[in-house]
Amino acid sequence: MSVTQPPITRELFNDVILPIYAPAQFVPVKGQGSRVWDQQGNEYIDFAGGIAVMALGHCHPVLVEALQKQSEQLWHLSNIYTNEPALRLAQKLTAATFADRVFFANSGAEANEAAFKLARYYATNKISPYKTKIIAFHHAFHGRTFFTVTVGGQPKYSDGFGPKPADIVHVPFNDLDAVKAVIDDHTCAIVVEPIQGEGGVTPATPEFLAGLRQLCDQYQALLVFDEVQTGMGRTGKLFAYEHSGVVPDILTTAKALGGGFPVSAMLTREDIAQVMTAGTHGTTFGGNPLACAVAEASLDIINDSQLLDGVEQRHHWFIKALEEINQRYHLFAAIRGQGLLIGAQLTPEYAGRLREIIQAAAEQGLLVLSAGSDVVRFTPSLIISEQDVQQGMAKLHQAIAQVMG
Ligand SMILES: *Cc1c(COP(=O)(O)O)cnc(C)c1O
Repeated sequence: MSVTQPPITRELFNDVILPIYAPAQFVPVKGQGSRVWDQQGNEYIDFAGGIAVMALGHCHPVLVEALQKQSEQLWHLSNIYTNEPALRLAQKLTAATFADRVFFANSGAEANEAAFKLARYYATNKISPYKTKIIAFHHAFHGRTFFTVTVGGQPKYSDGFGPKPADIVHVPFNDLDAVKAVIDDHTCAIVVEPIQGEGGVTPATPEFLAGLRQLCDQYQALLVFDEVQTGMGRTGKLFAYEHSGVVPDILTTAKALGGGFPVSAMLTREDIAQVMTAGTHGTTFGGNPLACAVAEASLDIINDSQLLDGVEQRHHWFIKALEEINQRYHLFAAIRGQGLLIGAQLTPEYAGRLREIIQAAAEQGLLVLSAGSDVVRFTPSLIISEQDVQQGMAKLHQAIAQVMG
């Protein structure tokens, strides 16, 4: 008996997927470098990069090879055994950063969940059982588990799920006095994104980060940098903390770590890691050999001064093109960000037309993102070609011309 498969269409999404997303009306089926194709064969230039994930573009041959090779060796064991790819990746991450120890997980939220649990566990075990306060910032984003969404603090993501984890306070970003007003001996951690990504591509000032470091030292609190979006070369350094010279106690990274394969990591120092013992925290999939093999190949390519310098160069291509568009249409109030995490904030007059701009761009064959309510966000491949940038920007220009009428 033969069964005919019904066609797989965008409409099917509305029937079978939990209605928490509103995906575009086309269905991508293939990607190569900074180009993507949909079911109808339409081509798109990709300035979104899977939300800052596809740091080396789609189907980078070295990553494909690493995945294929590992797929014939060993897929999964759980943490009842360790494995070579995880050990190699941990060794390379610690060699490349301030950290001595790594915890692997599968998503940004899980890496942050581990970071917040570690910060509280450390403080309550080492100093006082009452040292549990976490300070975080308005417009922050740290993931969607209940703890991380509560630390993120945006009611639209955290309300409606019952009682929230307690003792988390939020103050304005880049406002050191506001932090001084709430920090005390019961504070275990300050959690900050070096550049707020989802919140609107807003960089922390170097003085703010230095001030947070000083306050953490003064109150014996841990400084946690959420580099889920800024890490892995996104800002032109392997990790964004290198720009400011402010070194965190705990750092989380995810998005670009696996170049499209789900994997995340929490990094910390030996003296902090030592508070944890076998069984204090864990995960089934964390440190999965397939994920770590791809992440290792990714890190090998990204942790290279020539590639990182190229991010800086590409930043200028983007800024120049965006400024040219803005000279013509005056729709951006600010163009900001670092490396290839760039945000163009719409003026109040055009803020309500963000969705329209993104949709018009897709119709022109360009994938771009939003951030916050009024920012067009660009997180392309770190190795996107000059031609792809120019062609993509020509499409954006067209899209904006169309929206402006
Ligand atoms: C995307 C993001 C997260 C959440 O990562 P998931 O993989 O979606 O859980 C956390 N923090 C920051 C800064 C992010 O950009």
